[in-house]
This record gives sequence, C-alpha cells and structure tokens, in this order.
Amino acid sequence: MPKCNARDDWFFKDDMQGYKVSDWGRKTDCSSEIFCSICICTVDVKKGFQSLTQHAATKKHKQNSHIKLNIKQLTLTTSTNTCLLDYLIT
Ligand SMILES: [Zn+2]
Repeated sequence: MPKCNARDDWFFKDDMQGYKVSDWGRKTDCSSEIFCSICICTVDVKKGFQSLTQHAATKKHKQNSHIKLNIKQLTLTTSTNTCLLDYLIT
C-alpha cells in the first residue's frame, strides 16, 4: 500500500470554509501530519485531503479561525501604521 503523504498542492486549495489551507496549515517533519496554526495541533492526513477539510469543518477550528484569522489582519494593519510612524520620526 502506498503511503499517503502530505502534498504541496493541498496548501493552495480551499478548505471549504472560505480559507486557503495555507492560511492555517503548516508542514511538519512527519509527512502524514499537517500542523494547524489556528488550533495549535497536528492533523492526521493519512486519509488524504479530506482529512484537512474535515478538520477545517470542526467547531473548534471554525471558531478559532474566525478569531485568529481576523486578528492576523488587525496585526497587519497595526504594523503598517507602525512603519508609517517610524518613517515620519526618521
Ligand atoms: Zn485547526
């Protein structure tokens, strides 16, 4: 039986919740696991890509993605302001 490994093209796919897998998924040393940076846990992907969409559909992940992916945008806005301030001071 061929081992089902995490594939690079998965990260460019939609997770069915409106986000790209690359928004939250990270490769790990273990080829059969993806690290979810939203839930801070690893996702077993031995069953293939559906393992990722199933994880993305969990209540925990959906709640966390609302909070964390929105905070990420706020952080980006804040850092942009900081850059402008630094520029003005300089
Ligand atoms: Zn997750």
